Amino acid sequence: MKPSVPTTSEEARALTISASHALAAAGQEDMVWGHVAVRDPDGRGVWIKQPGWGLAEVTGPRLQLVSFDGGVLEGEGTPHVECSIHLEVLRADASLVCSVHTHSAGATTFASLDTALLPLSHAGALFAARGLPRFQATTGLVRTPELGAALAAALGSAPAALLPAHGIVTTGPTVGAAVMHAVLLDRACRDQLVAMAAGSPRALPDEDETRRKAEECWPPHQLEAGWRYLVRRIP
Ligand SMILES: [Zn+2]
Repeated sequence: MKPSVPTTSEEARALTISASHALAAAGQEDMVWGHVAVRDPDGRGVWIKQPGWGLAEVTGPRLQLVSFDGGVLEGEGTPHVECSIHLEVLRADASLVCSVHTHSAGATTFASLDTALLPLSHAGALFAARGLPRFQATTGLVRTPELGAALAAALGSAPAALLPAHGIVTTGPTVGAAVMHAVLLDRACRDQLVAMAAGSPRALPDEDETRRKAEECWPPHQLEAGWRYLVRRIP
């Protein structure tokens, strides 16, 4: 099956819409805030929704193509105030196709505890094995290219980062991987919040098993399988 990587502008537009709807269906919508960006296959910038619409409300006419300089090349209106997140994260690593920024309630609540994410589920193992950076430059809006670049640096090669008192950023070499990383991070954080509310999580895999689990549970084809499931769940 074809991976969720666009080869034409039309595919990039369609994937931006599907990714937005899938994130909404997975519970990541925060009214009109949060967005997903897909790299334009012709290198012109990123496809992203216009401000003012929720993830579930994204349609073709509500998309923009935003250049890496922040100019709107196609579509109407000005870019999202936090568009720099995507422009700088995708500029920093040419292997990435997609980035997601949401205000995941589970991850935001978890981030406030300032504690490490534990491998207490398959989802947790993914981030415990690969590292879950915390962006420390601000808890406010990532509204400038400088803050976007600082976020990209904090992220490094990790699949996700926590933005304490704000939300999350996730990435992927496919659209499906970036969306799955957002959904799995929300799940992993909620799992740990429940466990910590009940006591102190103790029965955990060790470092070696956590690394093995991350590889066997989350190879690219499994992330794509999860992505296709999320797309089928779009109302
Ligand atoms: Zn935000």
